Amino acid sequence: VHPTSARRPYSLVVQSENTSYSDEYITSKFTNRGADVVVSDGQFIVTPTSKPYEFQTARKVSKTGLMLIGMGGNNGTTLCATVLANRHNISWHTKSGAQQPNYIGSMLRASTVRLGMDASGKDVHVPVSDVLPMVHPDDLVIGGWDISGVPMDQAMKRAQVLDWDLQRQVAPHMARIGKPLPSIYYPDFIAANQEARADNVIPGQDKQEHLERVREDIRRFKRENDLDRVVVFWTANTERYSDIIPGVNDTADNVLASIKKSHSEVSPSTVFAVAAILEGEPFVNGAPQNTFVPGVIALAERHNSFIGGDDLKSGQTKLKSVLAEFLVNAGIKPLSIASYNHLGNNDGHNLSAEAQFKSKEISKSSVVDDMVSANALLYKPAEQGAVKGSKAAKGEHPDHVVVIKYVPAVGDSKRAIDEYYSEIFCGGRSTINIFNECEDSLLATPLILDLTILTELLTRVKYRDASAQAEFAPLYPVLSLLSYMLKAPLVKPGTDVVNSLNRQRNALEAFLKACVGLEGSSDLLLETRIW
Ligand code: NAD
Repeated sequence: VHPTSARRPYSLVVQSENTSYSDEYITSKFTNRGADVVVSDGQFIVTPTSKPYEFQTARKVSKTGLMLIGMGGNNGTTLCATVLANRHNISWHTKSGAQQPNYIGSMLRASTVRLGMDASGKDVHVPVSDVLPMVHPDDLVIGGWDISGVPMDQAMKRAQVLDWDLQRQVAPHMARIGKPLPSIYYPDFIAANQEARADNVIPGQDKQEHLERVREDIRRFKRENDLDRVVVFWTANTERYSDIIPGVNDTADNVLASIKKSHSEVSPSTVFAVAAILEGEPFVNGAPQNTFVPGVIALAERHNSFIGGDDLKSGQTKLKSVLAEFLVNAGIKPLSIASYNHLGNNDGHNLSAEAQFKSKEISKSSVVDDMVSANALLYKPAEQGAVKGSKAAKGEHPDHVVVIKYVPAVGDSKRAIDEYYSEIFCGGRSTINIFNECEDSLLATPLILDLTILTELLTRVKYRDASAQAEFAPLYPVLSLLSYMLKAPLVKPGTDVVNSLNRQRNALEAFLKACVGLEGSSDLLLETRIW
């Protein structure tokens, strides 16, 4: 898929001694403010901290490729077709009239940040994508792999996601992409019901050869399309979890050795992640499985290569990460959260197998953990010294159940039903029921685009400790700033996961603003509260 469109120039200028512009870089000074807390004899002793940093963002946006693993699936075909519709400005007819292509659902292209106020005291907002120079989704060069060799126009038809009139017009463009590249297929990792699709696989069982083949695919794609950067993105079927085995996948060297030995516990997604890391290209995991076994994270650290994951946060979980936070922050105590889903697309078919469902269940279940552990008034914290595995050792937690059923008739239109049953004032009870219909691939596609564009941006941002006059260095390889779009965010080992959607968005907004020398939150609005 080749881009054609021209872009308007970057147009935000910050006039401040904290921000400087050269042809190559935007450089900003930023003070990271926090607080150290010591709890002693029931007293909280808080010491404010501040540390000066500088950020340097390369202004030239990379010519960026997006290689999708699972390109022929519902997400993959929907993404290709909608980018083509946007790029070629294809409008289509639905029963309600003419529909223009757009990027609704993209946090970067369809939401805004508040910059400040104009002379009359009115707020001024800009699209998030205007804060720093970013790739336009129309300009992404898209390619990738699939174990199904159905050509892209036919694969789009098979997905049954897009209106027929759009499919009809975009089909010739999709046909030009042809077949996805052959992919790695280890039947043990995805559901047995996927076997009939697997007619486009890299031959043999030698995992080292598979690794080298994928690395060569990435290099060739980069070369043939004259790209500066390729984001490799897993949007293939959910795999089962890999067992973490000492000596097999616990360290970088062990993962590499296990691939050499074609060890049975190395999954296709791990081979792809290792290939991207060794090529120095970022890898994002849009599905729930543990692609990033400890050895893969260590390998990314060793190569300073960026990784992000796991699992797209598109529908039910996105709402849950807002609703659970709303309840707990309002001082209401959810006692149980029961979630049912049914869906009828190929993702649902794959998830109807136990091992693959397990991966999804784990990813969906951890989403309220941080909100619960932040409120010791409502939930009794874990007791130190309590019997291992006991309730007291785990701490109090709402009952949280997730059910997923495959119902072919509803296709890509996933239905999610959630019941929040909470304790309120003086022993009262409150029940909130949510019925949520998610056109899955239409929610997921803008997330994949945002993740790709942010990832590319974060490869161009460097930072340094201003007090030590150190060299500018790249960010830490695990891109936890991507958490807003992810169900089970991967974070730097040893640091806390933030699931709250609001906190995730605030972090991203604060970071983008810091890179241009602006302070993050302006919600204090002090000038509106004083004389
Ligand atoms: P899909 O089944 O339509 O597409 C997946 C594609 O991956 C298929 O074409 C399949 O042939 C291919 N595939 C399987 N194993 C492969 C391999 N080893 N290499 C290359 N291709 C392979 O599913 P989908 O609806 O597009 O969802 C894709 C993934 O995204 C799933 O894992 C799903 O759980 C995850 N996800 C989707 C959403 C959403 O809202 N759509 C949200 C969160 C996560």
